[in-house]
Amino acid sequence: MLRKLTAVALAVGVVGVFAAPGTTSAATSDSRADAADVYVCPMHPEVTDTRPSACPKCKMKLVKK
Ligand SMILES: [Zn+2]
Repeated sequence: MLRKLTAVALAVGVVGVFAAPGTTSAATSDSRADAADVYVCPMHPEVTDTRPSACPKCKMKLVKK
């Protein structure tokens, strides 16, 4: 039991060491893009998106907020 827990702890530690740099940078860039880029319809302020898509109401291209 104790040996199994130690093995699991070691595995988690190894995975964490190898995964930490990649996931940290990826998560930072992704969250930054999602949080900063908000596109809104010029005619419908309630219509927003995280991508420059078209407004579903008037088909106008959403502009960056
Ligand atoms: Zn619109």
